[in-house]
Amino acid sequence: MNSIDESESLATLRRLPSIDAVLRHESVQPLILLEGHSYVATLAQEVVSELRSEIQETVSPLAGMAANELLAEATSRISRVCESHARVRTQRVINATGVVIHTNLGRAPLSENAKGAIADAAGYCSVEYDVDGGSRGLRGKYAEDLLLELTSAEGAIVVNNCAAATFLALTVFAAGKEVIISRGELVEIGGDFRIPDVLTRSGAKLVEVGTTNRTKLTDYENAINENTGMILSVHPSNYRIVGFTSSVGGEALANLARSRGIIFYEDAGSGALIDLKEYGLDREPVVRHSIESGADIVSFSGDKLLGGPQCGIIVGRSELIEEIRKHPLYRALRVDKLTYAALEATLDSYRRGTAVQDIPVLKMISATEAELELRCRAFLNKCPEIPGMRLEVLAGASVIGGGAAPDVRRSSPLIAVSHSDMSADEIETRLRYSDPPIIARIEKDLVLIDLRTVSETEEGEVLQALSRFDVRIPS
Ligand SMILES: *Cc1c(COP(=O)(O)O)cnc(C)c1O
Repeated sequence: MNSIDESESLATLRRLPSIDAVLRHESVQPLILLEGHSYVATLAQEVVSELRSEIQETVSPLAGMAANELLAEATSRISRVCESHARVRTQRVINATGVVIHTNLGRAPLSENAKGAIADAAGYCSVEYDVDGGSRGLRGKYAEDLLLELTSAEGAIVVNNCAAATFLALTVFAAGKEVIISRGELVEIGGDFRIPDVLTRSGAKLVEVGTTNRTKLTDYENAINENTGMILSVHPSNYRIVGFTSSVGGEALANLARSRGIIFYEDAGSGALIDLKEYGLDREPVVRHSIESGADIVSFSGDKLLGGPQCGIIVGRSELIEEIRKHPLYRALRVDKLTYAALEATLDSYRRGTAVQDIPVLKMISATEAELELRCRAFLNKCPEIPGMRLEVLAGASVIGGGAAPDVRRSSPLIAVSHSDMSADEIETRLRYSDPPIIARIEKDLVLIDLRTVSETEEGEVLQALSRFDVRIPS
């Protein structure tokens, strides 16, 4: 660095704003109200020291800047950091992907009733209080009663998620014992939930029977000995072996387990409370059928096909459920008042017989191609003419997704968005940067909007985001 450069950089350094001047700036004041003085002050120090090092670099775009320009640079960097918080925090998004149970987007969107119940229970609520008697009540009793009614089981208990339910059931009933499971069911169910690992961690000894594609009743029979505690059947939700296959039905396994005095546990996973065959979900075990076929305990998620809050539900024989309730691990895995409130409101819809109308997951899965086609056409009609932008309706499919039946697809018309001056990636990014963010998918260089997972009230927001496409983003 020669001496002229050096003196210029020294002069620029002297023009750097003080932290105080940055904090007093009119664009920074509202950020202080929002994020707190001490956080923004630290940020200001970081930004000014970042500018200081950049000025000292051999080639620096900041060299020679006036004091007001340096102040503007500092405040705009602070604003950018604070703006990014709005994007990284957990926030509402519009799911235009067509994946109904989208794990990254919060799985099941709750019904209006369930949302209201959460808001009501957020303050003090009667989660463990008996309003009738004016004394302590049983935690989660109403949710459990609804589950008994809807599944015909004798007992029910709710924990944090289905992974917790599985771990708990195995810990309580199979620690130190052998658990027989078919090789075709030693699956990983997304998010690092591997059945063999959960089994081993719970202290059970895994006994694999059959082969990956075929397991017979005699395979189970031959594996039973005096150390056997349980037969486990796992519904391979996200995995399917096709072709030359056979597996043993729940009823036969339940009979075998009963005759040998061991437990038959079915991990049903996605937990359909009603039969969803007519919507293409013909392999999803209905919990009531599993109980009626003789399963001793059945576990399933609350936020997959059931369409409620995140939780794991175990139903089954009452003495087994009570044994779970007494175990210290249950206390560690139990759910909070908000979950009970949302679950009760969701289950109320099933009791009332309005589940398919009320519960978004079921409403989306059951939407027909013709209904969606009408919505797509109306959407195109409402969309203003944007120079360069083209919208068209294409034939496609939505997936049910997310651990629950990801290979089940429902035919869906899709809205393809293209633009003469923008790549598919640019369009997708702009939608994602809308407020609220709109998450779309790209297929064959086309951005696709699937209205199956977009509620009718959100359609207006998507239209509004598209109508802003005539405004160029300064790059
Ligand atoms: C999804 C699933 C789980 C895990 O459930 P979470 O609620 O995500 O913890 C466990 N078992 C089966 C069969 C599943 O499908």
